[in-house]
Amino acid sequence: MKYNSTRNKNTVVSAAQAISQGISEEGGLFVPQELPKYSADDLKALAQTDYKGRAKKIMGDYLSDFTAEEISESVDAAYAAEKFGSDNPCPISYIESKDTKMSLLELWHGPTSAFKDMALQILPHLLTKSMKKTAGDKKAVILVATSGDTGKAALEGFKDVDGTEIMVFYPVDGVSPMQKRQMATQKGENVNVIAIKGNFDDAQTGVKKIFTNADIKKKLADNSMLFSSANSINWGRLLPQIVYYFSAYCDMVNEGKINLGDKINVAVPTGNFGNILAAFYAMNMGLPIAKFICASNSNNVLTDFIRTGTYDRKRKFYTTISPSMDILVSSNLERLLYHLTGCNDAKVAEFMKSLSENGAYTVDADVKAELEKYFWGGCCDDENTVKTISELYKEENYLADTHTAVAVNVYKQYAAQTGDKTPTVIASTASPYKFAKAVLGAVSDETLPSDEFEMVNALSAKTNTTVPAPLAALKDLEERFNTTCEVDEMPQVVLGSLGIC
Ligand SMILES: *Cc1c(COP(=O)(O)O)cnc(C)c1O
Repeated sequence: MKYNSTRNKNTVVSAAQAISQGISEEGGLFVPQELPKYSADDLKALAQTDYKGRAKKIMGDYLSDFTAEEISESVDAAYAAEKFGSDNPCPISYIESKDTKMSLLELWHGPTSAFKDMALQILPHLLTKSMKKTAGDKKAVILVATSGDTGKAALEGFKDVDGTEIMVFYPVDGVSPMQKRQMATQKGENVNVIAIKGNFDDAQTGVKKIFTNADIKKKLADNSMLFSSANSINWGRLLPQIVYYFSAYCDMVNEGKINLGDKINVAVPTGNFGNILAAFYAMNMGLPIAKFICASNSNNVLTDFIRTGTYDRKRKFYTTISPSMDILVSSNLERLLYHLTGCNDAKVAEFMKSLSENGAYTVDADVKAELEKYFWGGCCDDENTVKTISELYKEENYLADTHTAVAVNVYKQYAAQTGDKTPTVIASTASPYKFAKAVLGAVSDETLPSDEFEMVNALSAKTNTTVPAPLAALKDLEERFNTTCEVDEMPQVVLGSLGIC
């Protein structure tokens, strides 16, 4: 299987190249040239195996330049029961009523309590193997822009991995206290964490600029290093996310919730458009998904895009209680546009140029029609997010985090407006304990303690749920990183950290 760039179809690379490079020379993203297609019999076979078996089959079909042993080794190490608490890394909680059927797919049982672990526990294995195939013994320098969860999950995945160096940039006022503490206390000899004076989009743009800066790239090459990315622009991040949609479907069949062949919907709390795009790939491979419900917080650029066909980032940026979705430039939308335009690289390049120069673009009527056929966009502000957490807890005894609550709220808007009763998988993307203040405030009437860990303990006592052990342990860890820099200092910080200024 080969991969093209969304901005230039003449770029053709192997899976290993796509993963080690992260992003194409001209700034495009790598997309598979064709998708493996699964029949009902293939789905049945997937349903008869476990998560690891499903991951090996699906990832093997995409990573044709990897051996079966390499894939097995990567999957077995990444999804070991010690890391995710059980052999099924992502169990489902069902909440059903007269009008709604929700399957909450809990993707946050990994080491950093957010769904990013599902991909970032395996990416280091895929990346180091890809580097060996394509770049000899060069060192991979991983630059990460994070809205909170990717940073920690990438640090945890890459810490002390031979042949890698990882640097994470996060918006200084744009992450939760728990997220900040997770990153500031990170262990490992090859890690660095820097706050930037700006928002997530500034961090992401800054990282993309460094990736495509010829001078900096040359400096790295002269020192036997190569940039790569752990953000969801990397195909190696997206691919593992396709697996859990298939796995959820199989589990629902096995648990008697649906019959094989039945359609489901998928509702995803969306930021960079990676998670929901993985579901879209799953559908195009044969998974019976009818509708993709794209849920945003007050940064509702995607809601407007799906409803109008115009993507316009020129708007107020809100800092919300669901910080991992505080994004106005959703990188992975570029891949969707490529597929919806019938792989029109020139068109995609034009949209992206317009976005970077004018802050907006408008798709043609036929693309808008395709978009509406599959996607439904909705949004939910902080007040309604809190209300949804409170209702879910009081009525269903289910404790949701702020991001998952946005998806539940938007799914309910969708069900009420359309009357669609199709069983819907809701991506539950983080542990409520990562956002203790907002969640405790939603379920308790008492005055909140001011200390983060007191809030965590109060939440546990109030709801009779367990604090994930790695979060509880943060209280006593030493802070190692507290540097802040300006956005335009990022290139110097990177070179300085690598010792090659
Ligand atoms: C990253 C993240 C999201 C957004 O996912 P995308 O793939 O960027 O759309 C939603 N919720 C949580 C908790 C996250 O960490």
